[in-house]
Amino acid sequence: MSKQNRVGRPKGTSNQSHPAAAARLSRCPKCQSTERGPYTRTTKQAHAGVDPDGHPYTHVVRRWTRCLACGQSRIDRTYENRTGGLQKKNT
Ligand SMILES: [Zn+2]
Repeated sequence: MSKQNRVGRPKGTSNQSHPAAAARLSRCPKCQSTERGPYTRTTKQAHAGVDPDGHPYTHVVRRWTRCLACGQSRIDRTYENRTGGLQKKNT
């Protein structure tokens, strides 16, 4: 976990609008549950492309986890667009 302060906002920043963005939870391929245990391993591969939904990405990230409902283990693969922006480019 990082030591970023996740509560509130930094002093001096103004209110910002918060448009909704759809977040898709990973799902157990066996029982469709979205409840899962903590990720036990993560790998990141720098690979640019376009994901199945047509969005550009810069990295393919795989996270090992296990379904809490039925115990099925799986790898959550996400296509992440890590272009930096306001955050430090250290990931
Ligand atoms: Zn399951």
